[in-house]
Amino acid sequence: MEMVNVEELFASKVFTLGKMKERLPKGTFKEVNKIINEGGELSKEAADVVAKAMKDWAVENGATHYTHWFQPLTGITAEKHDAFVTHPDETGKMIMEFSGKELIKGEPDASSFPSGGLRATFEARGYTTWDITSPAFIKETATGPTLCIPTAFCSYTGEALDKKTPLLRSMEALSKQAIRIVRLFGNTDARKVIPSVGAEQEYFLVDAKKALQREDIVFSGRTLFGAAAPKGQEMDDHYFGVIRERVGAFMRDVNTELWKLGVTSKTQHNEAAPAQHEVAPIYESANVAVDHNQLVMETLKRVAGYHGLRCMLHEKPFAGVNGSGKHNNWSITTDTGINLLEPGKTPNENIQFLLILACIMKAVDTHADLLRQSAANVGNDERLGGYEAPPAIISIFLGEQLEDVVTQLVETGKADNLKKGEVLHTGVSTLPEFVKDATDRNRTSPFAFTGNKFEFRSVGSADSIGSPNTTLNAIVAEAFCEAADRLEAAEDFDMAVHDLIKEYMTKHQRIIFNGNGYAKEWEEEAERRGLPNIHSMVESVETLTTPKSIKLFEKFGIFTEAELHSRAEILYETYAKSKNIEALTMIDMANMQIIPAVIKYIGSMADTTNNLKEMGVTVSVTKKLANKISGKLEEAQDAVEALEEAVAQAAAMTVGKEQAFFFYEQVAPAMRALRRPVDELEKMVDKAYWPMPTYADLLFEV
Ligand code: ADP
Ligand code: MG
Repeated sequence: MEMVNVEELFASKVFTLGKMKERLPKGTFKEVNKIINEGGELSKEAADVVAKAMKDWAVENGATHYTHWFQPLTGITAEKHDAFVTHPDETGKMIMEFSGKELIKGEPDASSFPSGGLRATFEARGYTTWDITSPAFIKETATGPTLCIPTAFCSYTGEALDKKTPLLRSMEALSKQAIRIVRLFGNTDARKVIPSVGAEQEYFLVDAKKALQREDIVFSGRTLFGAAAPKGQEMDDHYFGVIRERVGAFMRDVNTELWKLGVTSKTQHNEAAPAQHEVAPIYESANVAVDHNQLVMETLKRVAGYHGLRCMLHEKPFAGVNGSGKHNNWSITTDTGINLLEPGKTPNENIQFLLILACIMKAVDTHADLLRQSAANVGNDERLGGYEAPPAIISIFLGEQLEDVVTQLVETGKADNLKKGEVLHTGVSTLPEFVKDATDRNRTSPFAFTGNKFEFRSVGSADSIGSPNTTLNAIVAEAFCEAADRLEAAEDFDMAVHDLIKEYMTKHQRIIFNGNGYAKEWEEEAERRGLPNIHSMVESVETLTTPKSIKLFEKFGIFTEAELHSRAEILYETYAKSKNIEALTMIDMANMQIIPAVIKYIGSMADTTNNLKEMGVTVSVTKKLANKISGKLEEAQDAVEALEEAVAQAAAMTVGKEQAFFFYEQVAPAMRALRRPVDELEKMVDKAYWPMPTYADLLFEV
């Protein structure tokens, strides 16, 4: 096996700060570095110099093309490749060129990307602009090495049409407000506070040839039919199990590709469901983490292809076993390296930490609906609240120790006691004894404090992590801002901060829940507490445009009201379109594959029955089976017709909220009603007749 030199490989395809330092004149490098750290605009002269250096490096690495790489509201990335080619001179010679202007600004046609009414097809101009805070990189695919420049994407009139612009705005807002907080505690040297994010990515890996035999996987990224295999995940033998050779070879290649791109792929393991796996990088600045997560998803899919595999990123590709999520680990750190979510050894005495915690409790409680929305997508509807993933109710898990601190503060205004971690006794003298964490883990919580970060677990596996992080940054910025307003004006700071912590924690204690989030009782308890329980994506959309939401996002310049409305429109439209594709796929599969196959099978049974009769052999079994199957077939046929009818009705509606709700309330149940008899048929029909690979074939044979 070929050796991998990780140190050499790492970021070899990234135009890192280090490479810029090597290749740029001192002055230009200083200017770039200053803008990365403090914001501002690159001068035209500097842009030209950077562009040339970037192009030279890219060409040395075999690149012939460059692209502005951006994240429109489709949830994935977009790219339009341009060669570095220019007009040949009179001798016919051509010199590859790339100007500062081309680096900084692009003009893709915006009309073919979702804009939710912000753009009409006749006013198509949109701009991509270089995001200097996320490094350029070279993507190596079958098209050849291509220089990718991370960019933001907005309309002619400046409205954000992507996931990056609001994220960058939210990071600035959070930084500004967080700095006010740390200043209150005497920190004078920090100049910025940066949210850092580490996203654990779950995915399924199946055999590509088999996957391609299923229209549902091809068109909607998940199975829409499929009876459970005799074995699921009940033996707990897949989670952290030995990684099979074919999967291992895939993971090895994924790591190599990711390392080249500067993604610190660190952890890999088998997940709970058969054929499910996870990869996690080391955390980094939210903006770069969002870009990198897109690269992780792309790389997983691409490398799977090289191995004859198909990577399924859908939140619920297979019914009956766990779906996939993306644990979004989030913390906030000063540019001087202080993690503001670090409680220290004695969190009960760490006033700055307690204030920040109180603010986060307030933020999450006040905007639980928005946080829920930020993790909503079509696929996640099949997963959240399924008693395998966090419920649709947002709550915070703090763990025993911190919850106890909060309780003390709420009850007495003081937290003198601190529950300590105990020594772990294994009962084996040769094993080391160590002090346990004061707090156990809780896998069922949507938003769990895990030592020095929060882990937002509701996020879907196929979704961009742009929205969840934009929302997190925004709601916490608001809480920080309100706290800072009060504390900056206070005469007695110590007293004021004490009161504020107690007030916030008392008011928002209801958001803390340390119990089992999968339990039915929690739903009832949450309702008593008045916590929102938003079951679906369509129901979550209106949280974006409530007065509370508009006030929040406008105040910090993250979204204008128009942008929020446009995003809501896009979500309704996306939901309707996705469900429509799923429904049409089911109809196709039922009409053209499944029902004909069952008819053929019944036909063969009829032939057999007749032959048996002629021979004078008893036919009771074949008759009985044929009757049973025929009954189910009728059910399936009726269900297809009902689904066809529902889809036709939906198609006649205008695009928007009402249509989206129609898909949710009428079409989706009709889809489920069709799946039921078909899955039962699958269990009755001779496998040789079944027209597609089954769950058993897909999940257990990689
Ligand atoms: P687990 O599966 O137990 O949650 P993993 O090691 O798989 O843990 O993933 C933890 C993730 O959290 C990693 O991506 C890691 O880099 C990230 N992380 C660790 N510390 C921080 C932090 N301070 N801020 C953001 N993310 C963090
Ligand atoms: Mg985790």
